[in-house]
Amino acid sequence: MAQIDFYGGVDEIGGNKIQVSSNDSSIFFDFGKSFKQENLYFSEFLKPRKLNGILDLVEFDLLPQVKGLYREDYLKHSGLNHHENPAAQGILISHAHLDHMGYLHHIREDIPFYMSKESYLIIKALEMTGAAGFNNYTTYSPDFLLLEKKRMSKNSTTHKRASARDVKKAREIELIKPYKSFEIGDFKITSAPVDHSLPGSCAFLTESSEESMVYTGDFRFHGKREDETKKFIKEARKFSPTVLISEGTRIDRDKNVLESDIQKKAANLALSHGDLIIVNYPIRDLDRFNTFYEVAKDSDRTLVVNTKQAFLLNEFYGMGYPQLDDVAVYVPRRSWGLYGGESYACFEDDWIRSDKLDGEYVLSDYKGWEKDYISWDNCVNYKDLQENPGDYLFQCDFFEFKELIDIKPENAIYIKSKTEPFNEEMEIDAARERNWLEHFGITIHDGYHASGHANGVEILDMIQEIQPDKIYPVHTMGKEEFKILEDEGVKVVYPNLGK
Ligand SMILES: [Zn+2]
Ligand SMILES: [Zn+2]
Repeated sequence: MAQIDFYGGVDEIGGNKIQVSSNDSSIFFDFGKSFKQENLYFSEFLKPRKLNGILDLVEFDLLPQVKGLYREDYLKHSGLNHHENPAAQGILISHAHLDHMGYLHHIREDIPFYMSKESYLIIKALEMTGAAGFNNYTTYSPDFLLLEKKRMSKNSTTHKRASARDVKKAREIELIKPYKSFEIGDFKITSAPVDHSLPGSCAFLTESSEESMVYTGDFRFHGKREDETKKFIKEARKFSPTVLISEGTRIDRDKNVLESDIQKKAANLALSHGDLIIVNYPIRDLDRFNTFYEVAKDSDRTLVVNTKQAFLLNEFYGMGYPQLDDVAVYVPRRSWGLYGGESYACFEDDWIRSDKLDGEYVLSDYKGWEKDYISWDNCVNYKDLQENPGDYLFQCDFFEFKELIDIKPENAIYIKSKTEPFNEEMEIDAARERNWLEHFGITIHDGYHASGHANGVEILDMIQEIQPDKIYPVHTMGKEEFKILEDEGVKVVYPNLGK
């Protein structure tokens, strides 16, 4: 029998880290961040320290104590032993949500990652455009490294701390193709695309000399890729697995809002409104982006996206999504706020004023990657939204609400196309969100979100269809709901954390 160790995703939604070992070979299904567990100890202003390597996370069992798994620089820096042999020969990433890949930074560089091309592009965008920190997902730059510095005098050398720029290299990442099997040691693995709330999500069918195993990742049927999930189930049934590891996020629910309903409802709303429409949807959910792209088209508006989504669209060039030219890119004022030329301190002199938009003075307000997106022809700023509010469908996340101060919208509406708050911090943000909208007299339209997860009826039907010998419920707070499957001859095993 293969050994399965669950290091996350047990009695919580997300944080999946599942190690499977068979005949001297070992792989991981996902290596995600446990938001619930991490939030018990850390917050925005109380973060794990890099100086302590993995230890701040190990302290609270956020990272498992597995020998041969972590980066050599962190282990050595904390006086821990680095093991010659890696603990696993590969980490399989089901999709690019942080609760499935958020702790990859800590993995040693000689363990390769396996993921779909779409997951790779999203993770790369996350690394390039997100906040710095523990984000060596697709690259690896050793920390705590001193480099020799050249000196004028021959006999003396001096050292400097290496920066990421000096030492960054690409990680070993294998891009996997749907239903094209590959081998890792004793394991033969096939990835099966599934419908979820971002592109490139997949389940894994895994065969070893000891077990045939299916891991679902996160999945649903009610998005734009229902057929993919159905095909996965058909293939999984043919595979007749001994073990099925299934997510159960919404095991206690029996209804769905359909992705297609959002489009119809939002298009009707957009057609009935003449002023600015603001929409807040998760930017990495490119199917949802597509939904609102269509809503904008149907209502004769232009969808305005932020620079992060623009970066992502550029990465997905040629992969069947609307292109950057098809939308407008919102350029916010940053740093000194020179974009748009409103600074009276800087622009007193004509020679600077004439250099306004393309000049270095403005560009230096923006970070490296963002500079590429602020001088496109299809860029808009707060003045455009102020002058022609009825022309635009403006994608605006909560943390970008400060733009509303510049835009000063009148008679605007807000379509909330995001998950409802499910913890205390999110409740506080939701209250702030309401305060901002109320302040600007903006009406909220709720109920424009489709979950990324199948409901309980669908999950149980799927398991009965696949007919595994054993089912391990993960990524759920309702494992008891799976017990009903025992009547159908499926053994339900509750995973233990660390076992
Ligand atoms: Zn998840
Ligand atoms: Zn997910």
